[in-house]
Amino acid sequence: MSEEVFSIEDIPENPEKKINYASDFNHNPELEIKVLDKKSKSVAVEDFEVKLVLGTGGFGKVFQVKKLTGSDRGQIYAMKVLKKAVIVRNKETKTLETEINLHAKLERDVLEAVRHPFIVDLVYAFHSGNKVYLILEYLSGGELFMQLQKERMLMEDTAIFYLSQVLLALEHLHENGIIYRDLKPENIMLDREGHVKLTDFGCVKESADDEISYTFCGTVEYMAPEILNRSGRHGKEVDWWSFGILVHDMLVGIPPFTGTNRKIVTERVMKSKLHLKKFLTPDAKDILTRLLNRKVENRLGFGPRDAELVKEHRFFSGVDWDAVINRKTIPPFKPILKSDDDVSNFDKEFTSKPPIDSPPGSISDSVSELFLGFSYNGVD
Ligand code: AMP
Repeated sequence: MSEEVFSIEDIPENPEKKINYASDFNHNPELEIKVLDKKSKSVAVEDFEVKLVLGTGGFGKVFQVKKLTGSDRGQIYAMKVLKKAVIVRNKETKTLETEINLHAKLERDVLEAVRHPFIVDLVYAFHSGNKVYLILEYLSGGELFMQLQKERMLMEDTAIFYLSQVLLALEHLHENGIIYRDLKPENIMLDREGHVKLTDFGCVKESADDEISYTFCGTVEYMAPEILNRSGRHGKEVDWWSFGILVHDMLVGIPPFTGTNRKIVTERVMKSKLHLKKFLTPDAKDILTRLLNRKVENRLGFGPRDAELVKEHRFFSGVDWDAVINRKTIPPFKPILKSDDDVSNFDKEFTSKPPIDSPPGSISDSVSELFLGFSYNGVD
């Protein structure tokens, strides 16, 4: 296992030239099939004007950009820039190694394969040197997390609006054999109308895969006990656990298991009794108890019926699922936007930073090979 990710620009003189393929990428047919090359028109970073920084994730930066060429000239997008390879320190040997950034490739592959009303749209993908560029629809409503911070906790109806959309996105991922594994309010964004869009697909796992260890995946408060106990195998039920944590976070204002450090939180997630606030409705208490069941086979959502079981719970009895999927339900909060490129729903800490995307740099042939066929053009 490796930890401590360095930026490629910080590479010391001579890191050990060992590529750690983590999941033996080249021999995983599931992943290989999805590396389609749709270069009908090639798009490159020069086709975009970088306007602002929108945020940073564990693996790269996200910029607001404007398209300068083609039929979508003038269109505002979000550009996520990731490194193809990162330098990590091996936990055991303490040496520095080059590690393929699986997250970058996975995110692109999953987003290309998965289209859904509540999942961010990938419009283009290209790469240059050590960088991977994902051009995504711009989600001007910002993070649901910002909304939660303002309101502290949500009314049950409001929470159900967001939760029902998240639920359908998870259902779709699971139907496609994908486990999301990183559900948390920071990864739930709002589009200009106020509907949910799941973002950040660098931590997904193909359910058919053998266990892959990912550096920095997930947030411990949201992680299922079977991930934290490191027994290895885990299935799509981890998403239903995180969904339960999200239900609690929305209705109570905090996740149910918290603490001052990672170790304490981990212990509480693994062992603490679930104490539910008195003000929660009986349906809310019931769904929370069923989702936050440490016994995977007793957890709501376990087995082939998956999301159906969660949708059928009384907590969601007032939901018209056809209206939800068709985006006919009325968002409780409509982002106030002055223009297409309005960034008022993003943190000034980011948007006030100089929007500098460092040069792509170069990369070894073995890393380049892995990214062959990476480019994607969703606009024809
Ligand atoms: P991520 O690495 O995907 O978590 O992205 C880091 C941050 O960038 C997020 O927390 C958002 O604030 C912002 N961001 C990511 N994707 C988008 C998008 N499609 N539109 C607008 N902002 C985004």
